[in-house]
Amino acid sequence: MNRRVKLFLPGPTEVLDEVLEKQALPLIGHRSSEFSSLYEGIVGKLKMLFGTDYHAFVFTSSATGVLEGFIRNFVKRRVLIPVNGSFSKRWVEAAELNGKEVKALEIEWGRAIRPEMVAQELRSSHYDAVMVVHNESSTGLTNPLKEIAEAVREVSPDTLILVDAVSGMLGVPLELEAWGIDAVAASVQKAFALPPGLTVAYVSDRAMEFSKGVENRGMYFNFEKMLDYYNRKRQTPFTPNISLMFALDHQLNRILEEGLENRYRRHREMASLVQTWALERFDMFPEEGYWSPTISCISNTRGLPVGEFIQALKERGYAIVNGYGPLRGKTFRVGHMGDLTPDDVKGLIDAMDEVIKERGW
Ligand SMILES: *Cc1c(COP(=O)(O)O)cnc(C)c1O
Repeated sequence: MNRRVKLFLPGPTEVLDEVLEKQALPLIGHRSSEFSSLYEGIVGKLKMLFGTDYHAFVFTSSATGVLEGFIRNFVKRRVLIPVNGSFSKRWVEAAELNGKEVKALEIEWGRAIRPEMVAQELRSSHYDAVMVVHNESSTGLTNPLKEIAEAVREVSPDTLILVDAVSGMLGVPLELEAWGIDAVAASVQKAFALPPGLTVAYVSDRAMEFSKGVENRGMYFNFEKMLDYYNRKRQTPFTPNISLMFALDHQLNRILEEGLENRYRRHREMASLVQTWALERFDMFPEEGYWSPTISCISNTRGLPVGEFIQALKERGYAIVNGYGPLRGKTFRVGHMGDLTPDDVKGLIDAMDEVIKERGW
């Protein structure tokens, strides 16, 4: 395997050596005071990052577990899910598998969720929660979450707003209290630029209150248990990935030092480089105005053999991916998030141009 392949994937993303190395620190016990201070520090930094008073949690799991946990903890009976990509589709299946009543609002892939569609559905029927994917990784599209949340708040103030911000958090601007989001989660192998294995979640007080009346919330992803354990011991109820938490703690220091605004700006710059290139050579897949700052989904208008293109780039030290599911071959995707820089992106663009030229595509 070529150790020097740079990851421009929708996840996992590049991890700096100094962050990787933190995982090799000697272990501490998860019931020790050292762990309590580590976890308390992490929770404090997570809150500081978004300037929020929400509860912050770190689960040892990929985000799917925690988002399924949202469905189990924050939906009594009915949930509304606008679907415009593979991840929103996945939450419909997860809600069904957990015995919830789901209404999927289907929208063409590549088109953004219209707040008015959500409002209209909420006017005709009541839902415990609306679940929204902020940044659809399958189509490279950022949904207008702020406007959707506004519409929900206006029409059905007691409906909780649950958000999959997995590939967006720290790369796509997000506000918690100001937008009235109730629960949001992101796994750390995307814009947090860490190895996979942890998920960060923020939950409002009112969602925590609501969860107390929900049955069959389960054990591992039970937010009340998580909060109770945190309040009493500054620990997690079950054994966490301590090594990865060392890395998360270090990475949070780095991110706080960079500042969220600078991080957002860097992501915008990287996205804009890829978008400019894509518009010259191909076309962007999602509708204009909603292009994601973290993942570009590019329409394969030249009909190039995407598999071969990806392989040739890998030989040059760059990893990108094919389109997702039904978009395979018709699109390809470039992830530009985490600790990658505009210079890294320029390197990838040069390599893509070289390959296209060399193969006469
Ligand atoms: C990657 C991703 C997921 C899945 O996250 P896991 O950490 O693999 O469970 C969910 N939603 C979106 C939008 C993603 O990009």
